[in-house]
Amino acid sequence: MTPHHSASLPPLHGQFPIVFANGHKIDSIGFWCRTCLEIAHPMQMRGLVSRLVEGAADVRAVYDCPCGCRSEYLIRLKDDKSFIYLDESGWHTGSSKLSRLQKLRIRVTHLQMQFVIRIGYRSIGRKLKKIKRTLHKISMRQGNSRF
Ligand SMILES: [Zn+2]
Repeated sequence: MTPHHSASLPPLHGQFPIVFANGHKIDSIGFWCRTCLEIAHPMQMRGLVSRLVEGAADVRAVYDCPCGCRSEYLIRLKDDKSFIYLDESGWHTGSSKLSRLQKLRIRVTHLQMQFVIRIGYRSIGRKLKKIKRTLHKISMRQGNSRF
């Protein structure tokens, strides 16, 4: 990832939905601060969606949380509903073919869940609040500052 200032990135929300040639559509992605777990309002996200490779969309997103921390995301979404994302430990693969609940459980268990991909899901705000509560519970139980 090249260093950049989020101020130079355009708002992310205007670049959704992402629609692939085969009809697969991603309405939005939900993000939160990795440090304090505050949910990012979609209007506060800045970033870029680039379509350089056929059948894939690269999403670079930045959230400057009021707590002072910055969370950066790099995700490649594919038209077969799979995706890969980068975090501090490297690239990971995921699939949105899993049920949403399954996905949530798997990621939360591994404390790796960093974003929620919304596919035809209307109440993402409510879902994010639920995730935030779950993440708080886990980090309290473990008594660490992993996030
Ligand atoms: Zn924060």
